[in-house]
Amino acid sequence: MATPNQVQFPPDFHYTQSRLQDFVECPRRFYLAHIQQQRWPSPLAEPQSEVEQALDRGARFHQMVQRHQLGMSLEVLQSSVAGDSTLETWLRRYQEIFNELGSFEKTWPEVSLSATVAGCSVLAKFDLITLRDNAVMTLDWKTGRLPDMVRLGQRMQTVVYLLVLYREAARLVGRPIEKMALQYIQIPTGETRLFSVDEHSVALYEAHIRSVIEAVQTSDFALTEDVTRCRFCLYRGLCGRGQSPSVPPDETDLEDYWGLGNLESNPSAVEF
Ligand code: SF4
Repeated sequence: MATPNQVQFPPDFHYTQSRLQDFVECPRRFYLAHIQQQRWPSPLAEPQSEVEQALDRGARFHQMVQRHQLGMSLEVLQSSVAGDSTLETWLRRYQEIFNELGSFEKTWPEVSLSATVAGCSVLAKFDLITLRDNAVMTLDWKTGRLPDMVRLGQRMQTVVYLLVLYREAARLVGRPIEKMALQYIQIPTGETRLFSVDEHSVALYEAHIRSVIEAVQTSDFALTEDVTRCRFCLYRGLCGRGQSPSVPPDETDLEDYWGLGNLESNPSAVEF
């Protein structure tokens, strides 16, 4: 394994919430995925066809929400998924939730914003940012599991989103912003989790991100000692931690792994 002073980061490397989360869960996973850029050698979970279907459906849902936010009617979108009762239900739930949220002055779907922490660029890719009454709220759709407030509050996605939103919302909107928040919405159930950010909490978020980045820079990228984290990992085979786990897709944080794939390189994400 490489020692820290041997590590060569890819030339276009930047931190994201999913890359930081990978490091927090397992430094070796971070090294294999984002420094060595290894392809996925093991299936994420079994049975593989169910996993692929769940990933595909989640990606399609996010794409349809983006299209709706860009002006396509929900009726057209509903007809495009006729026959997939899960997607039909999710779109109806999205419509109900969006109606309950009320109208917004402006929305930005699939937008990327970045902030600098510890001299490094940290990029956040948001599902949707909304503006109403000098308040900015980002909505994040979850089609899989929705952890409880404590676990979700510790995840790098929450920490990175709130820091980047706090730092960059005014620039995105073009005027001062008084309130900033992040709302996770679990589409299959309609359950939500709301986090807000202010000058006190943002200092804690920045310190947390800084500590993870500094740990990356001095890491020997050891395998995690918590082998339960290997159950969902793509690199089990490389690490000698098993080839074929039996983890159904609804027990896996599939969306977290999109960071390694389609969403991380989503060509339709707009950078500001
Ligand atoms: S299989 Fe386990 S030790 Fe290997 S990269 Fe994945 S989480 Fe880390």
